[in-house]
Amino acid sequence: MSPLLEVRNLSVAYGAIEAVRDVSFSVDEGQVVSLIGANGAGKTTTLRTISGLLRPTRGEILFRGEPIHRKAAHEILASGIAHSPEGRRLFGRMTVEENLQLGAYVRNDEAGIQSDMRRVYELFPVLGERRHNKAGLFSGGEQQMLAIGRAMMSKPKLLMLDEPSMGLSPIMTQRIFDTIKELQSQGTTILLVEQNALAALALSDRGYVIDLGSTTLEGPGIDLLADQRVRAAYLGEG
Ligand code: ATP
Repeated sequence: MSPLLEVRNLSVAYGAIEAVRDVSFSVDEGQVVSLIGANGAGKTTTLRTISGLLRPTRGEILFRGEPIHRKAAHEILASGIAHSPEGRRLFGRMTVEENLQLGAYVRNDEAGIQSDMRRVYELFPVLGERRHNKAGLFSGGEQQMLAIGRAMMSKPKLLMLDEPSMGLSPIMTQRIFDTIKELQSQGTTILLVEQNALAALALSDRGYVIDLGSTTLEGPGIDLLADQRVRAAYLGEG
């Protein structure tokens, strides 16, 4: 069976700066896969390119066997890839419910949209309690939940989460990681970018280390966690 997502020899540049260099990885259906690496390694750029917000200079991206790297962002979203971006990018003046509705704009099955909204509120009860409140007044953790909820509302086959634990307390971080596991058990495939390498690898089926724009190590999450090079670089062990 071919992978759900396959990134082959991807390179992406901002003008003369090559941010991603020959990155390759794949995500099988039903898996949680993590990309880890230092600040500036090219992880966010990789996700933005998969979403169609940036164009590769080389390489290709296949989703369900079809090349998508020349498609427009809205077509990629409609084909089943959702992206919860770094920094959340919510619409602060809109309510929780309006933000969730926007996440569903590629759909027109009203009954399905309502049932998925209930699912988001079940996962994150605080969002249900505050569904008519404006998102801009929420705490970092609540905004992060809303960003994930909004991405879930397109009913994606593949959910990409960029730094979902950024700026969150350890309790909230745990909550987000528990939610990732729950989404996986409900059938969503997840591509996760995380600074929090330990927690990310612990819940991942596979991990890839990106260093200076290139994939340098890969393997099952649990094996990477035990790898001395990963421990030295990301967990502060020497
Ligand atoms: P972080 O975890 O800090 O977000 P990252 O691994 O996600 O890091 P990217 O954000 O993809 O890394 O950045 C990769 C490289 O591209 C960095 O050197 C960064 O400075 C550069 N870069 C990112 N965005 C731009 C841009 N809009 N214009 C020019 N250079 C950029």
